[in-house]
Amino acid sequence: MAKAVLKTKGLCKSFGALQASKDVSLDLRPGEIHALIGPNGAGKSTLIKQIAGNIAPDSGQVELLGRDVTALDTVARARMGLGRTFQISALAMEYTVLQNAVLGALGGRGRPFHFFRNVMKDPELLAQARDALERVGLTQDADRRTADLSHGQRRQLEVAVALTLKPRLFLMDEPMAGLGAAGSKALTGFLDGLRQEAPILLVEHDMDAVFALADRISVLVYGQIIATGTADDIRANAEVRRAYLGE
Ligand code: ADP
Ligand code: MG
Repeated sequence: MAKAVLKTKGLCKSFGALQASKDVSLDLRPGEIHALIGPNGAGKSTLIKQIAGNIAPDSGQVELLGRDVTALDTVARARMGLGRTFQISALAMEYTVLQNAVLGALGGRGRPFHFFRNVMKDPELLAQARDALERVGLTQDADRRTADLSHGQRRQLEVAVALTLKPRLFLMDEPMAGLGAAGSKALTGFLDGLRQEAPILLVEHDMDAVFALADRISVLVYGQIIATGTADDIRANAEVRRAYLGE
C-alpha cells in the first residue's frame, strides 16, 4: 500500500472536563478522499485544528509526509504542503477576489501593510493567483470585491486560495456548507478531480457528497472514531446507523 501522506497517532484533546478527541488515529493515503463524518460537537473541527497546528494535542502525534510535525506551527505545516479550507470563512471581504488569491499565494510571508504596494505587482504571485482562480472558474470575477460574491463563489475562492500554494494534501472543513444543489454538485466534481493531485481529508455533512466522493469514511462520535471503511461498509455498519444516522 502507498505510504500515507498524513497520519495521526492517538490524538487526545480535552477542553476542561470535555474530551473532544479520544485516541484518534487515522491516515490519508495518496490519491484518496477520506471523509470524516459525525454529529455536531463530535470533535471533527478540533481534530482538523490539531492536524493543521492551530491547537496542540494533550498527547499523541501528527505525521505529515513521514515527518513528526506535532511541534510545528501552522505556517511550517502549510509550507510542507498542507492546504486547508475553513468551516468559517477566512477571506478578507473588502479585498478583491484576486487580492485574496495573492494573499493565499503569499502563504503567510510578508507584512499586510506592504501588501498592496509590493505584493500585488509580483508577477510570480499574480500568476499563481490567476492560475488558481482559473481552476475554480473565477477568472471572470477576479476584480470583484469579495463581499459582493455569492456564497458559492466565496467557497470556490477559498479553495482557490488554498490551491495557490500547490498543496500536497488538503484539509477541508465542511466546504459544501451553505451551497445550493448546483454549487455542491460543481464543488463535488472539482474535488473528485483534485484527489489525484492532492488527497483530501474532508469533513462534510452533505452525505450525498460524502458517499459520492469518499474512498474511505471515518465516523467520529464523542471524540472517538467508531468506524472506518468504504461507503458500503459505513452504510451497513449497525453501530454507525444507531450513533449517527439516527436509526
Ligand atoms: P464538530 O466540528 O464535530 O462539530 P468541534 O470539534 O467543533 O465539533 O467541537 C467538539 C467539542 O469540543 C464540542 O463540544 C465543542 O463545544 C468543544 N470545543 C471545541 N473547541 C473548544 C474550545 N476552544 N474550548 C472549549 N470547548 C471547545
Ligand atoms: Mg466543526
